Amino acid sequence: MAQLSFKNRIAFSYILITGLLIFVVFLAIYYIVKYTVYNHVDNAISIEIENHLEEINTKNGTLYLIDLDEWKEREHITIDVNPVFIQFLDTNKVIIEKSPNLKKQSLAYNSKAAPYEFFDTTMFGYTIRQVQLPFYVNKEKRGYLMIAMSLSDSKKVLDKLFDVMSIAFPVILLLLFFLARFFAGRSIQPINSIIGTANSITKDHLKARIPLPQNKDELYVLSQTINNLLERIEATIQREKQFTSDASHELRTPLTVIKGTLEVLIRKPRDTSEYHEKINYCISEVDRLNRLVDQLLLLARFENQRQQLKIEKVLFNDVISETILHFSNELKVKNCSISVSLSKEFYIKTDAHLLSIVLSNLVSNAIKYSRNDSKIEIIAKEKLEHFEFLIIDNGIGIAAHDLENVFEQFFRSKEALNSEVKGIGLGLSIVKKITELLNITITVSSEVGKGSVFRLVFEKSDND
Ligand code: ADP
Repeated sequence: MAQLSFKNRIAFSYILITGLLIFVVFLAIYYIVKYTVYNHVDNAISIEIENHLEEINTKNGTLYLIDLDEWKEREHITIDVNPVFIQFLDTNKVIIEKSPNLKKQSLAYNSKAAPYEFFDTTMFGYTIRQVQLPFYVNKEKRGYLMIAMSLSDSKKVLDKLFDVMSIAFPVILLLLFFLARFFAGRSIQPINSIIGTANSITKDHLKARIPLPQNKDELYVLSQTINNLLERIEATIQREKQFTSDASHELRTPLTVIKGTLEVLIRKPRDTSEYHEKINYCISEVDRLNRLVDQLLLLARFENQRQQLKIEKVLFNDVISETILHFSNELKVKNCSISVSLSKEFYIKTDAHLLSIVLSNLVSNAIKYSRNDSKIEIIAKEKLEHFEFLIIDNGIGIAAHDLENVFEQFFRSKEALNSEVKGIGLGLSIVKKITELLNITITVSSEVGKGSVFRLVFEKSDND
């Protein structure tokens, strides 16, 4: 059974059950017909018994068993049409009278059968239904009355019925099997489409989708689920391809710049200031390369970071002070100021190192994308169920249509590219990954030319 196809398994299970049902129905029909036929014959014999017992009497000591004219009746003369065989025995079981249709034959006395018990036996090679009983005259046992009727017509009907059923049974089963197989095949047709589509899918060809069946049944849901899965796999592979191509582009750009600068530099002797300038330029590109590699490594580490989290009680105020200190040089260069308004000490259960990476990136961006001499604000608010930290800048801002993309890897807005601020486009994607790991909600609102607000929401833990 395990080797059979799904289609054949359905068909087999179906005919096994229906076959059993048909068998029971056929059996019931056969036994009902048999019972009816036998009942009919037994009733007819019972009437004959009554009639014949009534006719027995004695006159002047002589025993009269039957009005002899009776034997002239058709059923007692012939054996062709519903013959009734009558036979009288004396008490010694010797025949004393019998109907003419018995001719030279006689009904055999069955010593095992009880009086009035109907049983089947044979005579002239035909099956007959027979009964035997003692008869009495004036309460004195005078012999036995035996009556039999032919069962050959009934037998013929029953045999015919049996034959028809025996032939019909396997034919019906065979017919049902092929019908069930056909319909099962039709209903699992979508599975073949699924197999076909699945076979045609490779890593480089993920466009194929399973055609949805017309009926909105389980196979429809299965096809839809697989299509959604393919959609997600395709998007993931597409993202990975994009990431690889973006990353290699970003890695190659500084290398090309360094190589080009050094090749130009080596062509002919230069004066010291030119060497200085070009080498410094190369160093800044090497720094950029370093930062990029650091960020790529960080991203790679986050892929399965969850088990490495070091959650502890962290004083947010300290982390923000350290972050600002870290950027004091950048702030000085741009002559920007940061105002921090923390109304109290904010303790948060989180990973201090990862939190400092988030804040570093947000503060770094706020400084990078601010104009010279502008102000940056960091505000903390305590709400009923959470803490809220806002990093607000008055910089170049982000266009509304870019807001949902800023957390994508390697995304840089037109404004950022035009502002000539150096960047790679990985900082906010790292922030996004960390906030997901630490269950921090991050949102951004912004207006081009006016500035941006990055909002971090920390759920309060039970003992905050
Ligand atoms: P990078 O700063 O290296 O380009 P990020 O991932 O940190 O990469 O930021 C992605 C993009 O989001 C930036 O290129 C910029 O377009 C936009 N962005 C992020 N922070 C700000 C901000 N404070 N003001 C304006 N634009 C921002």
